Amino acid sequence: MSVTVLMAIILMLPSGQSLAARHSDPIEVATRHPLPITLPAPAQLAAEPELDWQRFEVQSGDSLARLFDRAGLSPQTLYAISQLPEAGKVLTRIMPGQMIELGFANGELARLSYQINAQRTLVVSAEGDGYQEQLEQKAIEKRQFFASADITSNFWNAAVDAGLSANQIMRLAEIFGWDVDFALDIRAGDHFSVIYEEDYIDGQFAGDGDILVAEFSNQGETFRAVRYSDGNYYDDKGNAMRKAFLRAPVQFNYVSSNFNPRRLHPVTGKVRPHRGTDYVAPVGTPIMAAGDGTVIASAYNNLNGHYVFIQHSNTYVTKYLHLSKRQVRKGQRVRQGQTIGKLGGTGRVTGPHLHYEFLVNGVHRNPRTVKLPESRPIAKSERAAFDVLASERLAQLAHRQSILLAMGAPTAE
Ligand SMILES: [Zn+2]
Repeated sequence: MSVTVLMAIILMLPSGQSLAARHSDPIEVATRHPLPITLPAPAQLAAEPELDWQRFEVQSGDSLARLFDRAGLSPQTLYAISQLPEAGKVLTRIMPGQMIELGFANGELARLSYQINAQRTLVVSAEGDGYQEQLEQKAIEKRQFFASADITSNFWNAAVDAGLSANQIMRLAEIFGWDVDFALDIRAGDHFSVIYEEDYIDGQFAGDGDILVAEFSNQGETFRAVRYSDGNYYDDKGNAMRKAFLRAPVQFNYVSSNFNPRRLHPVTGKVRPHRGTDYVAPVGTPIMAAGDGTVIASAYNNLNGHYVFIQHSNTYVTKYLHLSKRQVRKGQRVRQGQTIGKLGGTGRVTGPHLHYEFLVNGVHRNPRTVKLPESRPIAKSERAAFDVLASERLAQLAHRQSILLAMGAPTAE
């Protein structure tokens, strides 16, 4: 095993929070039981027998009309149900393998139940001469987890062994991607800890939630990030994690040689080459604009192969060489993170790689260590609330970390 797995434990299991209906959703959100909310008149109730339920699986090529036909329902019933606002929407999008449950009373359709997804179920009930509908929405329970790892081989393996999903690993790298080059600068001894959420419905995992707070130590420098209610991440001083430039124009998981501190240049065979940074990754790997800017060159020559240069303000220029494909043209505005081309092996190279240059006022600088413009602080009006949240979250993280250390500490002699 390439990493010391410390642990990933459940911090707490808060009681399920009910979700309010969306503002745009006119349909009442009911709890799962009892059904239905509108009770039939007493006379009707006395006459209504137990429902006879039948399950119908949506077949390939099925429409609601075909399924209803199979179930022996009339076109009038189909029409009435498809006129309901929500049913009309979701029942036209049924997919093979899904189930529609039909409850009959005296041979007439009394209720239809269709599970839209893990969280939502549509229920249509006979009501007088027609039908009414409701959406049952199950509560999403947020569970918090703590994960922590010392990196011994590479970040990906460490994060997987610590219990993070692929999604969460990419998010973690994204949060710190303005400070750390995850492709080239991760070293043995680097460390991270994180508190993140997962969504559960009826006790079953239903999806990744947000990373709430995280800490990343890279080559002796420690970065901290706290998620605020605006969905953005800020450091412990309230400055945005997002900055003017990404440290690396390639997502780290594409880069093959990301843990060799004495990486050889793919062309010259020498350690730490020339005036740029080389990322060795498969041909076709997406190359991202490191920052917002304007494309000042998108062309081909024998030396650079296909290349793209981007001007960012008056001070900064970034250059991307040896591409297999360019996806921007000269004069075009680009956003940070936008794909501008695909990695290749064009021009004077012996193997495919991205040659990346970062220029400040025309002078080549190391993009992974150069001092970059300060990021924006959180809005003044949010500062007090952020400070409270941040100190809470960071204390939570430190607390978990200390429990971990205590558990892992050798017994005193
Ligand atoms: Zn190079």
